[in-house]
Amino acid sequence: MARLRGNLHAHTTFSDGVRSPERLIAEYETLGYDFLAITDHDDWIGDQYWRALASLSPGLLLFHGVELNYEPLSQHVGKVVGDHETLYVLNHPARYRLTVGETLARIEIITRDGLPLDAVEVTDTGQYRPLYDSAAIPLVKIATDDAHRPPHFGRAWIEVEAPRDRDAIIRAIRAGDFRLGFAPPMA
Ligand SMILES: [Zn+2]
Repeated sequence: MARLRGNLHAHTTFSDGVRSPERLIAEYETLGYDFLAITDHDDWIGDQYWRALASLSPGLLLFHGVELNYEPLSQHVGKVVGDHETLYVLNHPARYRLTVGETLARIEIITRDGLPLDAVEVTDTGQYRPLYDSAAIPLVKIATDDAHRPPHFGRAWIEVEAPRDRDAIIRAIRAGDFRLGFAPPMA
């Protein structure tokens, strides 16, 4: 089975990213990625966003998605949409300087409120944050680069053992059939 490299968290000019969807996809195709999720902020976007994503015909496998702001906690949650499956991600706990205990409490509240979290980011804009790469957190641990602008593109990714199919990739992530990848730190 193929090992597919991808990024599940990225922004475009529809919210606070500097690249249009087309140009962002081109960046990741140049980097050799197999898949990309575009996940602009839910409080910035409207129908035009979803129509724009639907009108793209990228070479890489594109996931439509959104970064939700879970208001009661001001916690961002990634929603990555497959064909039938949906992946929910607790985004960058490092940015909120959460302890592992606080992270667990947030997972419980958000899950109870109807967002069934699958994964947690062990990265903050592509920087590894090992505190969250802990067996105490009962979610799969993913790396993303949360791309807004250069030099974020390609800092951190996952390599998934799955067929080139959105639902298969989401199921493989849930099953833990992937590894993390990081670009060498910049001098
Ligand atoms: Zn983000």
